[in-house]
Amino acid sequence: MGKKDLKNQKNKLSQLINDSRKNCDFCQPDQYTPEDVFGRIKGKHSITASNIAKYDVWSSLVIFKNHNPLKFTLEELSDYIDTGFHWFDKVFQTDETYKCPFFVWNCLYKAGASQIHGHAQILMGKDIPYAKVEVLKRAQSNYQKRYHEKSHKGLDPHYFQDLYQAHHALGLGYTVDGVSLYTSITPAKEKEITILPPESPSTHKNSKKVIFNILRCFIDVLGVHSYNLSIYCPPRDREYDFPYLIKIVDRGSIFRPPADMGGMELFGSTVVADDPYEIIHHIIEYFKIHEIE
Ligand SMILES: [Zn+2]
Repeated sequence: MGKKDLKNQKNKLSQLINDSRKNCDFCQPDQYTPEDVFGRIKGKHSITASNIAKYDVWSSLVIFKNHNPLKFTLEELSDYIDTGFHWFDKVFQTDETYKCPFFVWNCLYKAGASQIHGHAQILMGKDIPYAKVEVLKRAQSNYQKRYHEKSHKGLDPHYFQDLYQAHHALGLGYTVDGVSLYTSITPAKEKEITILPPESPSTHKNSKKVIFNILRCFIDVLGVHSYNLSIYCPPRDREYDFPYLIKIVDRGSIFRPPADMGGMELFGSTVVADDPYEIIHHIIEYFKIHEIE
């Protein structure tokens, strides 16, 4: 996108976001949103609310203090993640059969958000993870069974690390301060990025910085404003081995009405226009300029 187009889009967006402040329930969550049975988790920059349109038994929201979902500092983003993870702890303490955490931030309408005000969905699945996580878990298990005997010195092959290495060999991977990331060669949607934090992003500061820098690069450099960010987690009781994984995709301009996917994508194959090599180039350049201290 050219600089002029980017500026025009920014102005239109600012106006849309400012206009939506009027009568916004999420600007006063204590008054206008319900709370969970155990009350609310309160962070410095965010607060939880029970979801009116629940996806599941435990389905709540992290409501950001800032109305504008595209305006956030590293401290604010870190707080949103921490508030969500404190809620996961609280649900697991309340009922241990709900043990599969899922964090998903749908930013603006095109990504599925019903409200402009910044908020993320937090869910706890019962006994088994959500379907897409289960698919990855099975791929991991099948891969480890298939290649265990063939691996050198009996070392356990690692599905997600090997997936990263394959992308890195193709020139699509990058590691910064112990956090690996890659742009997918088979993306689900435009600009799909996968981040592999070495531990929970809630306890690992550098992982939060990496997520922050990627989102800022998306918004400030690439002109993205509607995106999905999800955090996959291992089960709280560690019944099986599964890593933390973060995935981000761009859902296109909210000023272009048509949906960003059609029947081809639902029933055929994914259609994407962005080149993963261009995206990883922008991300690496951004990291070089905004070096992690
Ligand atoms: Zn608001």
